[in-house]
Amino acid sequence: MSNSEKKRIPSSGLPDGLHLDTLAVREGLPRSQWGENSEALFVTSSFVQPDAATAARRFAEEEEAFTYGRFGNPTVMMMERRLAALEGTSGCIGTGSGMSANLLLLMGLLQKGDHVLCSRSMFGSTLRLIQGDMGKFGIESTTVSQTDLDEWRAAMRPNTKLLIAESPSNPLTDLCDIAALADIAHRAGAQLAMDNSFCSPALQQPVNFGADFVIHSGTKYLDGQGRVIAGALCGPDELLKAKMYPVMKSAGLTLSPFNAWVVLKGMETLSVRMQAQSQRALQIAHWLSEQAQVARVHYPGLASHPQHALAMAQQGGSGGAVVAFDVKGQGEHDLRARAFRVIDAAQVASITTNLGDVKSTICHPATTSHGRLTEAQRQAAGIGQGLIRFAVGLEDVDDLKVDLLRGLSQL
Ligand SMILES: *Cc1c(COP(=O)(O)O)cnc(C)c1O
Repeated sequence: MSNSEKKRIPSSGLPDGLHLDTLAVREGLPRSQWGENSEALFVTSSFVQPDAATAARRFAEEEEAFTYGRFGNPTVMMMERRLAALEGTSGCIGTGSGMSANLLLLMGLLQKGDHVLCSRSMFGSTLRLIQGDMGKFGIESTTVSQTDLDEWRAAMRPNTKLLIAESPSNPLTDLCDIAALADIAHRAGAQLAMDNSFCSPALQQPVNFGADFVIHSGTKYLDGQGRVIAGALCGPDELLKAKMYPVMKSAGLTLSPFNAWVVLKGMETLSVRMQAQSQRALQIAHWLSEQAQVARVHYPGLASHPQHALAMAQQGGSGGAVVAFDVKGQGEHDLRARAFRVIDAAQVASITTNLGDVKSTICHPATTSHGRLTEAQRQAAGIGQGLIRFAVGLEDVDDLKVDLLRGLSQL
């Protein structure tokens, strides 16, 4: 295929060397013939071909062009280009959810008999996908500690193809050292995928620390206003095109144009939201650590966090926008009752497990997001009945403190 044929989908025409904030607003496709200033939403399931011979070439992938909505859409492509630019990867494939981005990576990269190493602190559905669903098809897996690199080294096998983690972890905000994991993977000829949903590229770009793939739940900070389910897999364009894109097409893991458009517009404010929400989170974390009813605060932006230095280096000097804290109490029953009282007293924060929204959310991980774990697994993971997760939004920080104090002062 000649280069002129490949270039049928035009580039964005932006100059080189632009910074993240500019790319977040400007990267994408060029405008259509109508000159719209805001990115267009192409609601169409198929694309008209000029003639039968051209259609044949395009379906044979000898020429790049839009043909059928499951295979690609201009709005989805705008979102993919913008996110790839922010993550610093050459490629990106939008998917219907964060979980389908995980599935796309696993199905595209692995085959029967391959081994995956993953952090025990990963998102619950990701662990179930790797251990349960992929296990059914002969993919082997081992879970290891989020923080203990020796466990990762010891668990490597000759057939280990992929290491996968997220940092910081949900809800306890344990970090993993991305550069160290990349080194362990690459020495063994394996690859590293990082789920970057929690920090977003505005705070952390995993490929700068050596990661090969970046997974996103676009549902979280990329959308930023809690509206849609969306996902993306970022990585080297050639590999994505060769191995993942065919899976995306045949399995139908496609991102809808409307959801892509919402995420595309969300990314325009990503950087300012992340900064503002993280600043509020830091203030809330400091304030919580001074409250008599609080036993412990988990937040990487606090100097007391065991991995504070790593967080500052890896997350652009920011602790992120998610804070977790343990209330004081005696025994699991009492701890749960106290945590519930704090959550139920909230009149501003929403009681929901979603995060990444400009609306602050509050939840009880032990009975919701981590409710499917056995009591022993939960204890081992450090997720006690007194733990509360607070994902800080854009409300006034004093109003949020009053909202938390309403419950804390009852204890
Ligand atoms: C929410 C989330 C997912 C799953 O994303 P969906 O968009 O809900 O499929 C994966 N990883 C992390 C870290 C998440 O927070």
